[in-house]
Order: sequence, then C-alpha cells, then structure tokens
Amino acid sequence: MIDSLKILKNKIIKCTKCTRLIKFSKKISLEKRKQNINEKYWGKPVPGFGDLNAKIMIIGLAPAAHGGTRTGRAFTGDKSGDFLFKCLHSAKISNHSFSTNINDGLKLNSAYITNILKCVPPEDKPLSIELSNCADYFDKEISNLKNLKVIVTLGKVAFDNCIKFYKKNYLIPTKLIFKHGKKYVLPDGKTLIASYHPSPRNVNTKIINLKMMKDLFIKAKQII
Ligand code: SF4
Repeated sequence: MIDSLKILKNKIIKCTKCTRLIKFSKKISLEKRKQNINEKYWGKPVPGFGDLNAKIMIIGLAPAAHGGTRTGRAFTGDKSGDFLFKCLHSAKISNHSFSTNINDGLKLNSAYITNILKCVPPEDKPLSIELSNCADYFDKEISNLKNLKVIVTLGKVAFDNCIKFYKKNYLIPTKLIFKHGKKYVLPDGKTLIASYHPSPRNVNTKIINLKMMKDLFIKAKQII
C-alpha cells in the first residue's frame, strides 16, 4: 500500500486532466511574486504528503498560488502553513513548527496532509468538473491509508467536498453542518472533524487561534 501511494504521488504530479488548472499553475510559476522572483516554482499538481501509516488525514481545498504551487508541498511556504504547523507542532503531530520547503526536514507523526484539489484554481474557485476529476485521487489516498481513523477538514469548502465525496459512495442520512470542532462518524467508521481554515484572514480576525486549533488536533489524537 505504501508503494501504491508512491505510485499515486507520481501519477498526480504528471496529471494534466484539468487544462484550465494546469495552465493557471504554469502562469503563476512564470509570473511569480516579487519576493520569490528568483525561485524556480514547482508549477505542477501538488500531491499529499506525510506518514504513509497515518491515522489522521488533514485536508485543505487546494494548494496556495505562492505556497504549495511554488514549493511543491501542501501548506508549505505560505501564511496558512505557518499557522497550521505551529498548531500541529504544539499538538505533537509534526516535528517542526514551520513548513518552508520540501527539504526542511519536516515529518508528520501519524498524519497525512492533502488537498481535495491538487492544483490551484483561479480565485480559489474550482469548477465542479475539476473537483470531480480530482476526486479519484482523493479516493485512492483514503483507500490506501489503511490505518486512517480521523479526517480533519480545514475550512467549509474542504468539509463540503469531503461530504460530497462520501455521498457518492455511501448513504448519509443526516445533514452534516460545518461547525469548528464538530465531530461526525462517517459510514465507513472514520471520524470527520470540521475545522476553520488556518488562513491569515481567520487568524487576524481571531476567528481561530493557536489554542483552538491545537485543542482540535488533540481531540483528533484522542480518537486514534
Ligand atoms: S486538479 Fe487534480 S485532476 Fe485536475 S489536473 Fe490537477 S491533479 Fe489532475
């Protein structure tokens, strides 16, 4: 199964199914932003990463334009990642409190981080066909992580799309509401925990803070 995830990772990196998103990633990589003008951007789909025996999966919507799309790793090299890793480190899920580039020595303890969509969409608004194209990779990530017990979704869009994904495969009788810290047992026995997104907007407006996010990850660890 570990080999399958490695094969999947290579398949994702080479994927060109969504022409609009591939073009957009390349455009960002050529234009760059001022502070990274001398860097070579990754500019391709960004696969998930982490402990291949993970019990906790953490899901965002898509790689950031100058974060994952630049560095090649989800929640790496952007402000959302900076905050997320402070929280993961304080909950003892990561060995570092930072995530700057793929050679920074970051390791996750029983956790795997990915995005519903592996390519950055313009204005953070994916088309439903793009979400549907990428759902197969998400499906394979979930089925290959054999020890998976908990899924933490970061933000309402990741939460909604995770449920949408489950609805395709299972009958979900009740309406699941997005609320930070709210837990649901999914039809396959995994626990879904909704979390606010660790975006600078949510942090600066104090919708989320380090303690809230740390407590949520500790709650996730108590389930495994
Ligand atoms: S979003 Fe997913 S399916 Fe679409 S090109 Fe990127 S990796 Fe492929």
